[in-house]
Amino acid sequence: MGRKLTKAEKARRAAAHPDRPGEECEAPPGDWSPEVNRGRCEAKGDCVAVCPYDVFEVRRIDEGEYRALPFLTRMKVWVHGKRTAYTPNAGACRACGLCAVACPEHAIRLVRMRA
Ligand code: SF4
Repeated sequence: MGRKLTKAEKARRAAAHPDRPGEECEAPPGDWSPEVNRGRCEAKGDCVAVCPYDVFEVRRIDEGEYRALPFLTRMKVWVHGKRTAYTPNAGACRACGLCAVACPEHAIRLVRMRA
C-alpha cells in the first residue's frame, strides 16, 4: 500500500482534476453549496482536508436524521461508525470544486443556490 497523501497533496491533486466543478474559487460566498449524499459518504474526511474555507466537519450523524434514513443508507452509515460529513460553514463556499473531486466516494456535489 502507498503512503497516505498529505492535505496539501490532496488539495493539489484535486485542483488538477479535469472534472472539477464550480468556479475555481471565484464565486461569491453563498452562490453555491456542497451537498453530501449520506448513502455514499464514508466519513473519510478528504473534504475537510481540501476545503480552503473550512466548510466541512466530520462527526456523528444527528440521531433524528439517522432514524429517518432509508434502511440500506442507515446500514451504510452504521458500518462507518455513524459518522458523516456536515457542512456547518456552507455559506462560506466559493465553489472551488475541490471537495467534489477529492471525495473518494463521490458523495459530494456542488449545488447552485443563486443564479
Ligand atoms: S467547493 Fe467544496 S472545497 Fe471548495 S469552498 Fe466549496 S465546500 Fe469548500
